[in-house]
Amino acid sequence: MESIARKLSPFALKPFPDFMSEILKEVLHANSSYASAFGDKGKLALPPARRFAILTCMDARLDPAKFAGLAEGDAHVIRNAGGRASEDAIRSLIISYKLLGTAEWFVIHHTDCGMELFNGKIISDLLEHSLETAKLTANGWEDVGQGPGSSAGRKIDWLEFADAGAAVVDDVLAIRSHPLVPARIPIYGFVYNVATGLLEEVPVPA
Ligand code: ZN
Repeated sequence: MESIARKLSPFALKPFPDFMSEILKEVLHANSSYASAFGDKGKLALPPARRFAILTCMDARLDPAKFAGLAEGDAHVIRNAGGRASEDAIRSLIISYKLLGTAEWFVIHHTDCGMELFNGKIISDLLEHSLETAKLTANGWEDVGQGPGSSAGRKIDWLEFADAGAAVVDDVLAIRSHPLVPARIPIYGFVYNVATGLLEEVPVPA
């Protein structure tokens, strides 16, 4: 259906609509500057040159390229809410070593993580009420949106945690004990301090 519509409309192939959000404009502007100074990065190899991978949280305050000194082509960075060793994160790590040669891995959680501010019941209740953004108030999370919501959130394991250091240990051990992860790969655990920018090592029992 879409391809027919494209053929019929001379406007269908325009890359962007006339209305563009400010964010969309800013991102495209930034990208055009970036590409204009791209240099020889187009020649980078696919496997990460420095042969390591980082699993970390999606938190906007964390910039692994900056806090760990990465340039394009250096390392794999796998991110999700909390930096958890979810099935999908482990899938990525396995591809990372098996096909792309990484040999050392870092699991990096951080202080003040949003994953400490809710649990599976809280987010599922909020989602069941509405699909608007909830508010964090003095009395906890409050859903301020108009319904309907959905109960589908109850089927998701949200992987929340109460203590970043303990969650790092759990995640390193979960990766370590996976049958497709070889013992030769060192897995380092860290908590990134959002107040100082420092990585603080978390000792993980062997
Ligand atoms: Zn976080």
